[in-house]
Amino acid sequence: MGEPVIISRPTGGTDNIPLVYDSPHSGYDYPDDMNSIVPNKILRQTEDAFIDALFGHVSVLGAVFLKATFPRCYIDPNRSTEDIQVDALDGPWPGPVNNSIKVNRGAGLTFTKIQGELEIYDRKLSVAEVQHRIDAYWQPYHTALNNELDRLHSLFGQVWHINCHSMPAKGNEHSEDGPVERADFVLGDRDGTTCAPEFTQFVADFLSGRGYDVAINWPMKGVELVRKHGRPDENRHSLQIEVNRRLYMHETEITQNDLYPETALVLADMNAEIANFVRGRL
Ligand SMILES: [Zn+2]
Repeated sequence: MGEPVIISRPTGGTDNIPLVYDSPHSGYDYPDDMNSIVPNKILRQTEDAFIDALFGHVSVLGAVFLKATFPRCYIDPNRSTEDIQVDALDGPWPGPVNNSIKVNRGAGLTFTKIQGELEIYDRKLSVAEVQHRIDAYWQPYHTALNNELDRLHSLFGQVWHINCHSMPAKGNEHSEDGPVERADFVLGDRDGTTCAPEFTQFVADFLSGRGYDVAINWPMKGVELVRKHGRPDENRHSLQIEVNRRLYMHETEITQNDLYPETALVLADMNAEIANFVRGRL
């Protein structure tokens, strides 16, 4: 097993700024003990493929970049450890459980279905294997992200966090928006609670200015990572960015499409502007 999380820190020293990006869903090192019955190519459709490549350059801007190397359907760092699907386990879960709609459609802490339909396993998961996934993957990811955010917050008195994701071009009957085409970008600040509103607006204005349609807090408003780290009253700001996959990839082939280079350039410009925004707050 390799490292569950990879951290790229800026090399510039004094140019460092309190800005952290993370990509929790771009990993694809499928652990041997997953024992899924679904072909790898189908499992891979749950990944935010290429998001680590599209955002991984930010260390040259003075920012920190973290990514998970393990796949999100094995264990999802963007879920709470209470998001346990109890009927998918072979025994009682020893901790607290929060039974949400997402969990029940198989997209909880450990996914059991692809897009709410296709079963990933032909067995119950053991309590011990879910606990192992938490201890060996989820927890190290959370510890690494916590440490970076805390370190920068104590140095600068503020920290800005971009939680990077991608979304399928269309919803489906199991998603909150139904089977409709989605905006180019969806920004999520959990209805204005996880970052300064002017930060969300700044990013939205940048993208709109480049001709993209941008939705805010619908159909995704941010999940566990921005919920946990976004406390604007403590000068800790977390914003989720969902990039529409049609802007950069063929969704079933998991290959880059013709728009990838252009989208990569726009995101590089956006991240440089975000770095300037943060510098302006110091
Ligand atoms: Zn994601």
